[in-house]
Amino acid sequence: MKNVLFVASECSPFIKTGGLADVIGSLPQALKANERIDVQVILPLYDEISDDWKTQMDLYATIDVPLGWRNQEARLYKIVNNQITYYFISNDYYFSRKGVYGYYDDGERFVFFSRAVIEALKHLEQKPDILHSHDWQAGMAVALAKIIQPIKGLKTVFTIHNLKYQGIMPIETFDDFFQLPAEHIGGMEWHGMLNCLKSALFHADKITTVSPSYAEEIKDPYYGEGLESILLERARDLVGILNGIDVKEYNPLTDPALLVKYRSSRVRKIENKMRLQEKFGLPINGEKPLYIMITRLDEQKGLHLVQHILDEFLQEDVQFIILGTGDEAFEVYFDEVANNYPEKVVSLLTFNEELARQLYASADFLIMPSKFEPCGLAQLLALQYKAVPIVRETGGLKDTVHPFNEITGEGNGFSFTHYNAHDLLNVLRYSLTIFHTPELWATLIKNVNKSQFSWRKSAQEYMELYESLAGNVFKEV
Ligand code: ADP
Repeated sequence: MKNVLFVASECSPFIKTGGLADVIGSLPQALKANERIDVQVILPLYDEISDDWKTQMDLYATIDVPLGWRNQEARLYKIVNNQITYYFISNDYYFSRKGVYGYYDDGERFVFFSRAVIEALKHLEQKPDILHSHDWQAGMAVALAKIIQPIKGLKTVFTIHNLKYQGIMPIETFDDFFQLPAEHIGGMEWHGMLNCLKSALFHADKITTVSPSYAEEIKDPYYGEGLESILLERARDLVGILNGIDVKEYNPLTDPALLVKYRSSRVRKIENKMRLQEKFGLPINGEKPLYIMITRLDEQKGLHLVQHILDEFLQEDVQFIILGTGDEAFEVYFDEVANNYPEKVVSLLTFNEELARQLYASADFLIMPSKFEPCGLAQLLALQYKAVPIVRETGGLKDTVHPFNEITGEGNGFSFTHYNAHDLLNVLRYSLTIFHTPELWATLIKNVNKSQFSWRKSAQEYMELYESLAGNVFKEV
């Protein structure tokens, strides 16, 4: 049996700010179905994690974490949930704060986390064969595993969930944090700065990202975020494996958040919509098409396109609800639109999992016109709750949403190619035409109902990747 340690900065159900948490929460479960593999997960212990969870954790070890001239103590907590062992690294100075990210010293916080993971390895119940880090916050763990070699022959995998965030700091922090020989600067430096994500790309045995299309796109300057040359260099070790969703957890037939549960009944789905219309003071009418967005309010999500054409689209007989938090300029904008169109628009500027599920269950359409999208989970959740996604053809959106074709009757959504506001408007109007054409709408919904994005196939691809590496582990040991 091979042992894999996931290193990440968030994980459902403990702590979530976005899709990363969904993946770290569900992929280990899917892998575990295969008895050749055991997965453990290690995370920071944030204040934000609820006391319900904290009271179930056991103090497992106390470890000294060297961070340059500092020596910080960390406590290692352990909890077993759904047969997966989770470890949490606790340090009041770095993690006893409100929220998860957004501090001036986030770089140092997650370098500390990564360094603490390396120290924690010796203490874990199961020694990992493979350390699998996710995103920049866990990137230095890959580099340090290679440089310090806490476990002989330990293999490393690094998954890019979003290339835009890299954990960049002044190069002086190399001496400040590590006290390593200068020969290691090269692997960690990028354009004169210390770069956590680049460090992982340089050192990892294998690199994955979360959709085949994004794996191709990031080798190009438009999507490469300045790292395209190193991704090209490592192209032989880079693979795109599509994210899945936990179809048991997100199941409209059993989801406790839903007011009316359903499998594929449109009538029951519409009841959800009417309850939601009532809850938020919209005219109650099951026939009115409801468009939603559930998203971080970040320009990555194509919000500038939405801003450009929403007024025009709202001249149609539609309703629109946005659930999201993020950039203040977008928050102000969506509140303004909601004020201008009280009969049509609701703006919910909060992070609320239960509400998100109720929205997916109520919506006819989910709008997701991202500028780039490594995989995207919102469109998969929309399909899972039988709402039709409208997306830009990029990254994982392109791999999961196929445009409806009236002639062949194929396709599970709507899409447009160029990052252009009027292309979005055109496709929104087209979606409305289909909505009002019963035979075509019925065909589209049939395709939506058939869309399946469980982890089964992708978990198998991760398994094969691990086995290709772990074979080497046995040779070396
Ligand atoms: P990203 O990881 O880039 O934020 P994804 O589409 O991959 O985007 O994943 C977003 C996840 O976060 C989905 O599960 C989505 O439902 C959830 N989400 C986003 N914003 C909110 C919010 N305001 N409230 C509740 N859930 C949200």
